[in-house]
Amino acid sequence: MLNIRIEKTTSPKQKPASGEPLGFGKLFTDHMFVMDYAQDKGWHDPRVVPFANLSLSPATMVFHYGQEMFEGLKAYRCADGKACLFRPDMNARRTNASNDRLVIPRVPEEDFVQAVKAVVKVDEDWIPTAPGTSLYIRPFIIATDEFLGVAPSKSYMFIIILSPSGAYYDSGLAPVGIWIEDDYVRAVKGGMGFAKAGGNYAASLIAQVKAHDEGFSQVLWLDGAQRKYVEEVGAMNIFFKIAGKIVTPELSGSILPGITRDSVIQLCRSWGITVEERKVSVEELLTAQAGGTLEEVFGTGTAAVISPVGKLRYKDDVMTIQDGGIGELSQKLYDTVTGIQLGELPDEFGWRVFID
Ligand SMILES: *Cc1c(COP(=O)(O)O)cnc(C)c1O
Repeated sequence: MLNIRIEKTTSPKQKPASGEPLGFGKLFTDHMFVMDYAQDKGWHDPRVVPFANLSLSPATMVFHYGQEMFEGLKAYRCADGKACLFRPDMNARRTNASNDRLVIPRVPEEDFVQAVKAVVKVDEDWIPTAPGTSLYIRPFIIATDEFLGVAPSKSYMFIIILSPSGAYYDSGLAPVGIWIEDDYVRAVKGGMGFAKAGGNYAASLIAQVKAHDEGFSQVLWLDGAQRKYVEEVGAMNIFFKIAGKIVTPELSGSILPGITRDSVIQLCRSWGITVEERKVSVEELLTAQAGGTLEEVFGTGTAAVISPVGKLRYKDDVMTIQDGGIGELSQKLYDTVTGIQLGELPDEFGWRVFID
């Protein structure tokens, strides 16, 4: 149990008016959670304090070698008026998987969840309530030694900031066009693709710009060794419905283990749908498309929950998935996951966590 000190702001910000477009990750609440790490003290001084700039030496290690990890989850105003989270224990567990890879000290899972709850509780009134909106939660850890040598830092800061965010979709699910990237790669086996780390995103930007320039909204990454197997799409995991079965790339070390991915797999299996976690080649997709058995393609992630893919480009081929519309299963998964998150559907898996 953390003994969290709470220092409230004396100058609260103006909250966005209801109905005002929030966008994503642009507005921040009044408070943040901060906890420090030092070798002799471990994690210490957990506190919720007014949201403010950090003052760091230009020599701070995170600026030079990118020893940093982050997480992403959301708080919702549930149907009964309580604030709630979706599977925060999974974010806590993944934090430590990322920390281990980046040689950052572990944060006890229960402390992580307690910290998230504490800061959300203080800024609870910032949880937007319009359909599709939520309070996005961004925990992250940075290396804070002032040192230019390449080594793991001896000191760190764990910070959680909160951002009221708008509906991902303005009016229902909207299918996107995806660029299958056959040159740049995001991550390789033995690298840190399974960790949620800023460095992975830095490596991804160039292909994202290329895809945008070509008129596609996201990049589908292929494996780094052979450029043959599908890995993930932008900041989402990818799923295919092929001849009635659900197929998704197996977690291989270079793929981020999404919590939405895990939830979708559990839901599909509970509905009696076969789910295969295995290698999926582009070749297999082209063949399925030619044979008319590529029935649905969708991405999964906290931000969009389900993102239907209408078009897939590979070299000179553009595959239009069915009629480029929204698949039946994609819609059902979206409705079910968001229904559970918002407390509108029974929580059969015990995924909802209330903040009280
Ligand atoms: C965060 C993330 C995902 C999705 O994970 P969720 O836990 O479902 O939000 C997928 N891929 C990458 C690269 C990510 O960073």
